[in-house]
Amino acid sequence: MRWQGKRKSSNVEDRRGQRVAAGAGIGALLFRFLPYLLRSKLGRTLLILGVVVFVGSRFLGIDVAPGLSSGGSAQAPAQLTQEQQQMGDFVAVILADTEQTWHSILESAGIPYREPKLILFTGQVNSACGMASAAVGPFYCPGDEQVYIDLSFYEDLKNRHGAPGDFAQAYVIAHEIGHHVQNILGTSDKVHRSQQMMSKVDGNKLSVKLELQADCYAGVWGYHADTKRQMLDSGDLNEALVAASAIGDDRLQKQATGRVTPDSFTHGSSEQRVAWFKRGFTTGDINQCDTFSGR
Ligand SMILES: [Zn+2]
Repeated sequence: MRWQGKRKSSNVEDRRGQRVAAGAGIGALLFRFLPYLLRSKLGRTLLILGVVVFVGSRFLGIDVAPGLSSGGSAQAPAQLTQEQQQMGDFVAVILADTEQTWHSILESAGIPYREPKLILFTGQVNSACGMASAAVGPFYCPGDEQVYIDLSFYEDLKNRHGAPGDFAQAYVIAHEIGHHVQNILGTSDKVHRSQQMMSKVDGNKLSVKLELQADCYAGVWGYHADTKRQMLDSGDLNEALVAASAIGDDRLQKQATGRVTPDSFTHGSSEQRVAWFKRGFTTGDINQCDTFSGR
């Protein structure tokens, strides 16, 4: 991809290398059990002892509870290698391009586009959708309208799923942004409401449609990045198709269990994911992304 030197989005929040504040957890726990602690003599003694140790250690410059004393959130940014820095820049450029694309598409339909934040993290992250570990892969949380990515997923994509390349990486971001667009358009809300009134199998079928639409929207972004801003090199499209195919449910299930059970699909088969991405990519038109009407 030709991304270097292009505008970087200011909506990236870099939490790489930061530990999720254990201190905040300890504080919350303490607060919850405070009434019980105050009720007994032993509890009160422990509490006073704890305060004395904590305050005393601060005076002596010993950090007994780093999470507590730093407030847990105001940590200095981690030292990043040049390669990690560059990955962050790449993500910020792709995010900026999705902003430009979706402002133009939605606003020409009279719908304002709210730019989502993208959080880079390592290991574990706190979101409005709860605490998440990198193992769940990149995700979008509608509760705070933020995309969360641990960039080690790109290593997995390359090494475990055989899908290397920067356009494959961009596709992953564009897919999550696709979920944000669904949130703005009310599609995800509608799906989640209907899912509460149906069986798990039917619910999964709807999830698949939602996921395939996000793939189609990712393709729509690709169309705009390519035709309006010439960001793609030859071979780039193929990288995204390989990635879409590699992270299809059938492929992932086969790797995990050795067999495929379509009823439990929540993302769609490799073939479906490739087809919908392609459809968005060749038309650049979100009206072509109606995965729900069953055509
Ligand atoms: Zn998704």
